[in-house]
Amino acid sequence: MSLSDLSPDALAALHSEQTTAYAALVDRGLKLDLTRGKPAPAQLDLSNALLTLPGAGEYTAADGTDCRNYGGGQGLPEIREIFAELLNVPVAQLVAGDNASLGVMHDTLVFSLLKGTVDSAGPWVKEPITFLCPVPGYDRHFALCEQFGITMEPVALGPDGPDLEAIRSRVADDPSVRGIWIVPTYANPTGSVYTEEVTRELVSMPTAAPDFRIFWDNAYAVHHLTDAEHPALDVLGLAAEAGNPNRVFVFASTSKITFAGAGVSFFAGSPANVSWYLQHLGKRTIGPDKVNHLRHARYLGSADGVRELMRKHRAIIEPKFAQVETILQSRLGDHEVATWTRPEGGYFISLDVPDGCATRVVALAKEAGIAMTAAGAAFPYGSDPRDRNIRIAPTFPSPDDVAAAIEGLCTCVLLASAEQQQA
Ligand code: PLP
Repeated sequence: MSLSDLSPDALAALHSEQTTAYAALVDRGLKLDLTRGKPAPAQLDLSNALLTLPGAGEYTAADGTDCRNYGGGQGLPEIREIFAELLNVPVAQLVAGDNASLGVMHDTLVFSLLKGTVDSAGPWVKEPITFLCPVPGYDRHFALCEQFGITMEPVALGPDGPDLEAIRSRVADDPSVRGIWIVPTYANPTGSVYTEEVTRELVSMPTAAPDFRIFWDNAYAVHHLTDAEHPALDVLGLAAEAGNPNRVFVFASTSKITFAGAGVSFFAGSPANVSWYLQHLGKRTIGPDKVNHLRHARYLGSADGVRELMRKHRAIIEPKFAQVETILQSRLGDHEVATWTRPEGGYFISLDVPDGCATRVVALAKEAGIAMTAAGAAFPYGSDPRDRNIRIAPTFPSPDDVAAAIEGLCTCVLLASAEQQQA
């Protein structure tokens, strides 16, 4: 039953019960952290073989390249072959880079701002620029826009993609709209998976700006939590088919496959976009870390090697996601005070509490020693207009800590909701 249907007495009883539960929670003196989507130590242990690869005397790539030396701007073919299959892009259109993809996104944005894209009349920075931001979304995408003075406009995101009608009208009317952030597979934090239909729309819709770009961040392309294993769509092929081959910049990395921040990043695009990217990248670096490419290629072996490794990751984190679902359902299900996502992959669960309550819930949790990502973090400028969204990142803590944190969080949600109803 929803709290608004409770009699005043029943509501007062719930409030009093949750106030007592909250006092007991604070007394426990917990110190738990559910803020960032990081792999757990047990997940990192899966790739410890990397610490001794490529091994003494091993530095020669399959094509004879000496990985110890400069050069090879596009990255080693053997690592590109593995990830071209997984990301569903042609090997020739895939670049393997340095340790992580946020830097690649940063560079791509800066190259566009300072130099313009292959379809631009000039540098983006000379005019006001707007990016569309499906929400809730990834805070660091939004931080990049904020950093460079790009205006952000939120667009509602559903389970299989964003509000296409809203996007269609904005991109058709306004040439300042130059980009959109998309996390197509198991989006952060909603777990949304873009369908082929939605993707076709995005790559084909008419845009006022000839250089409109989709920043397609496939960070969780192989991070399945169920047997459904949604495959990466051939977004570059779909864009080319729609007559907009240059519309999409693809990003990915092995951060949550091998070592977070010590993996391999990827950029993919049309042949023209790849030449453009490599030309600018060539000014920034004389070549990527090919020794790292070699050790990753030797360790992962093949696309199937990656799939097998990801099933081991799943075995570690799936029980944590299941535990969050069980606790949310048992503590909040009957009260109709919240809704949450049931992701089939990725690293997050997105929790919506009653409008106007998220900030209070996060503050109550903090007071009880449970660190949650700041309310509003998944929105441009850190501002959730409905103040209702909370991101749950269950991968890093131990199963016991995840359970304790979510139990505590539920107490905070119930208390904040009861407070609001009584006010
Ligand atoms: N993209 C998304 C959607 C993410 O959620 C994250 C990390 O949380 C990243 C990119 C960061 O990737 P990388 O470690 O390759 O910089």
